[in-house]
Parts: sequence; structure tokens; C-alpha cells
Amino acid sequence: MTKIKLLDRDAVNKIAAGEVIERPASVVKELIENSIDAGATKILVEVAEGGKGLIRVTDDGCGMDRDDALLAFEKHATSKISGADDLDRISTLGFRGEALSSIASVAKSVDLVTKVRSGSVGVSGTHIKIEDGKITDVGEVGSPAGTSIEVVDLFRNVPARRKYLRSGRAELARIVDVVTSYAVINHHISFELFSGNKTLFKSVRSESWNDPILRILGSDVARNLIPIEAESKFVSVTGAVGRQTVTRSSPDWIMTYVNGRYVKSKALTRAVNEAYRTLIPSGRYPIAVISLRIDPSMVDVNVHPAKLEVRFLREEELAGMVTESIQLALTKAEEKESGPQQMKALQPTDLVFFEDGEEAADEAEVVDVPAPSTGSIGSADEVASAGSEIQRTLPLASGGGRLDLEIEPIPLPGGLRVLGQALLLYIVAEGPEGLVLVDQHAAAERIRYEALAKKYDAGNISQELIVPVTLELSPKEEVMLEEWGEVLEEMGFEIHPFGGRAYHVRSVPAVGQRLESPEAVHDVLRDLFALGKVGTEATGKDEILKLLACRGSIKAGHEMAWKEMHDLLRELFACENPKTCPHGRPTVVTISQVQLEKIFGRR
Ligand code: ADP
Ligand code: MG
Repeated sequence: MTKIKLLDRDAVNKIAAGEVIERPASVVKELIENSIDAGATKILVEVAEGGKGLIRVTDDGCGMDRDDALLAFEKHATSKISGADDLDRISTLGFRGEALSSIASVAKSVDLVTKVRSGSVGVSGTHIKIEDGKITDVGEVGSPAGTSIEVVDLFRNVPARRKYLRSGRAELARIVDVVTSYAVINHHISFELFSGNKTLFKSVRSESWNDPILRILGSDVARNLIPIEAESKFVSVTGAVGRQTVTRSSPDWIMTYVNGRYVKSKALTRAVNEAYRTLIPSGRYPIAVISLRIDPSMVDVNVHPAKLEVRFLREEELAGMVTESIQLALTKAEEKESGPQQMKALQPTDLVFFEDGEEAADEAEVVDVPAPSTGSIGSADEVASAGSEIQRTLPLASGGGRLDLEIEPIPLPGGLRVLGQALLLYIVAEGPEGLVLVDQHAAAERIRYEALAKKYDAGNISQELIVPVTLELSPKEEVMLEEWGEVLEEMGFEIHPFGGRAYHVRSVPAVGQRLESPEAVHDVLRDLFALGKVGTEATGKDEILKLLACRGSIKAGHEMAWKEMHDLLRELFACENPKTCPHGRPTVVTISQVQLEKIFGRR
């Protein structure tokens, strides 16, 4: 057996650094946190090659004198706590004293320039150079008050780590996430992110988080935010949440903060989703910025070296409070607005119904529908849906005898006969082989997928929008758009910059009416970006076609008219592979007469 050896300092640091510094965005996070702890009012983040080549963070905070600057890079050197007792009352973002030493150990070189803010006139700043983890130069230098830390060639000497980094743009996207998430909660600080000769994000010191949110999520979302507030003995909750009309296809925009730190907390995310559970369709997520101020002794921030995850005492109570405060705010906002709409709902002749509620068709028809007889006055939406049921009674739901298909003279393939729709999800039909159930979404996906694949192969997947749409992309989405540029073009998107963060979309993949509104186009782009790194299997042509087919297809919960059901079945059976959806799930299930008889004990 070999002898046990103590690792040298360099090895120990590199191992520890792996936990704190995973990628360029972790460096940016640690440096920004230090600047915030130093009381900065302005933080500038400059990066090159997605932070792999260079990261420089400059602040106008308290700065360090020469002695402190020399100590700052020592492991476990911190000015923020002085012992274990303090762990219970941490009010700063840092406290482990690990970040700078870790960064220094995994970068080719680090340059620190710092000067104390309170220093008397004529005092110069300090410059320290660290190469491969060792201080190689210390000197005096002219400098404004504050601190600038420059990190060059991250992971140059840690090939194992460097190998796992993603493309420059993908790493940059993560950096954008870090900067913007800190900018939201620290709205009293001006942030700027600069990369590739371009300012990617800039916020201005302001009293509320409206300014940074507007600059990240655009005016559409900002206009639809409702403030929330709640207070108990041990915690105060503040934040802004989106109305149920602005949703996203991923939970990425549920941003949670605890004592000023951006955190991931399953409990908090769940609490936010819970408030919207009955308000937005499943698979959609709200937009929310939630900030908790909590007694530091009630929360353990020391669970995760990068302090991303936190654990709460009395978690359920806390979650309940968050859910309730959101529900309350949403209800209040609704009440405020529904006044005039209710009055309108009482005038039946004002109601306009579309043949298909979801796809507002051009030929809108005014239908005379009696006001709902229920005592309470519903929202305009409720009234509308009650009305459409009256207008288009569904055979199965109505319980009447089998409807003869006079409206549909052309027979269906395979001798099928539609009986109706069940559970707003399945087309129920009978055929020579028995009872046939068709999953409407899976079937629509299959049809859409094959049609798209054909168009793609023929080089005409692109379809010009009748009305071009304008999108306001977030800073991160702008970075992703660059990364995805070629692929999007190949898939039929035609997107042009339109000044500022705005983009003009002229053409989209030909998936039909479901990709015509700015929201729908924006959603599809977000979903595509979320597929992952361009050039891998996950973002290959087939995966993209599947996603487009899914987004362009009718969903579960969509009430189908007779004609729609018939068209869908006819198109499905004209497909090459009608039996499964593009993801491999079945589209059609047949229950034979024998099976039915068994179920009913006739055999
Ligand atoms: P921690 O933040 O956990 O204390 P760090 O390694 O990040 O550990 O930083 C070590 C120390 O260096 C800090 O405690 C702080 O005193 C000093 N420091 C780091 N960055 C700055 C900065 N931007 N301005 C002023 N002081 C800083
Ligand atoms: Mg720190």
C-alpha cells in the first residue's frame, strides 16, 4: 500500500475551486457579490469569449488597502465574519473567503487594482498580479476608488474543467443570466454588461425593480406585473408577479431571492406555481420576482458551496405565505379591472364568438346568445365559453342519440364513423374493428410533423407571415439568437434587428395559424433555445421539427367541431406513420368488440 500524503496547497485549492468555480458565470457571480458587499453603486462587467478569455469586474465600492488586498487571495480570508458564531447572522453575500483564492488558482492570471474609498487625497491604489495561483507582482498604481478584478484564461491549467465548458455564446448566455438576476434585486446599483464591443445589458440605479425588469423582459411584461407584499414576524415578502395572461413555457422566469441573494429553491418555485395552478394551463409557467427578507438564523445558506441552494426552517409556513400573497394580489388586480367588463358581459348582443375560440378567425360572427342564467356574473371569458357551448353543442356531452353526419358527406377512410369528442382530448369513433379512440393532440402532432418534414426536404418550410410581428428579446435571448442564427434561418425563420432589443419576424416555419401572434413566435423561439447547445443531437433537425409540430398542433382541452374532427382523422390516416406521434406515443387505440364484451362480462 502506498503511504498517505498531505496534498500541497495548490492541489487543495484547485480541488476546492472546482466546487465554487464551475464555469465563467460562477466567476462573474462571485465578483459581483463581492462588489455588492463592498457597497458599490456601479458595477461594470466586461467579458470576452463568453468569459473564457477574459472577465473584468469593476466597482466603485469601498476598495481595499494594500494589506487587505494581499490577504484577500488567501484561502478562508474574509472580512465578513470573524468566527463560526457569526454564521447565524450573515448579512453579506460572501462569507466563506473562498472565491478569490479559488479564482486565482484556476485562472492563468488575475490582476487586482483597488483603492480605498475613504483614503485621503494623494493615496494611490494597489496593484497585485497573480499568475498560476502565485503572487508575482505587487505595486502602487493610480486608480479611482473601488476595485477592479481581471481574470484571464480561466481553467487554462485545469483542462478537465475547460473541456466541459460550452461554446462562448452559451457561456455568455449564463453570464447574462447572472448579471440580470443580480440587477433585478439590486436595483439601487447600476449594472452594465459588455461583451464583444457591445453593451448587452445596462440598468440605471432606481428606486424599484421596474427599471431592470423592463430592460430584461420588455415593456409587455413590465406592464403586466403586479406588486406583492406580505409580512410576518420572521419574514417579509416583496416582489412582482405577472398576470395570468403573460406566461412562459418554462419556469425560468420565476426568480427567487433570499436576503438579496439569487437562489434556487424548489419550495419557493412550487409556492409560486401553486398560486397560479387553476389560472394558467398546465405546461405554462408564470413570471415572478420574489424577494424574501428573512432572519438569517431561519435560513441555511451554507448548504451549497456556490450558495445557490438554500434551506429554510418552517418551510411550509413560508411557502403558504408566498402563495397567499400572490393569490391575493392577482385577485385584487382582477377585481380592479373586471368592473367595466362585467357590465359589458351583460349585453349579449355585444358578444362576438369565433367559430374556433382559440384561433380568432377572420369571419367573426355575432351570435345572439342569452345571458347565462347562473346567478353570479362571470368574467367576460366565462360568459364567452358558456356561450360557445350553447352555440356548438357536443354530441357526446349532450347525451343525445347518435348524430347523423349530414354535415359530413365524404366518408372517412377505413369505414370510420365519428361519435364525438370525450374529455376534450379524445375523438371517439367506431369502425369495423371496434371502438376507436384518437388522441387529438398526438394525431395533430403526427400530421404536422410529416407535413413539416416534407416541406423541409423540399426546401419550402418557410412561410411568410401575413402580418409581420415585432418581438422584444431579453438580453439573454439576444445572445441565443446569435447562436441559433443559421439554424433558425434553415428552419424558415426570417428575423431582422429592428433597433434596440426589438426584432422583426417576417417568416416562420409553416406550421399554420398557431404561429402567427408575437407571443406564439416568441414562445417557440424560447422553446428552441431551451433545447440546448446548437449542433448536438438535442438540437438536430428532427428534434426541431418535432418541437415545431408540437407547438403548431391543437392541444388537449380544445373543443373540436365535427368538421375539425373529420379533417383530423382524414389527414391522420393519410400519414406515413399514422399510428404514433413523432415522440413515439400512440395516436390511435382500438378496443375490439371482443374486448368490450369481456369488459362487460358478456364472454
Ligand atoms: P468572501 O466574499 O466570502 O469574504 P472572497 O474570497 O470573495 O471571500 O473575498 C475575500 C475578501 O476580499 C472579502 O471578504 C473582502 O474583504 C475583500 N474583497 C473582495 N472583493 C472586494 C471588492 N470588490 N471590494 C472590496 N473588497 C473586496
Ligand atoms: Mg465573495
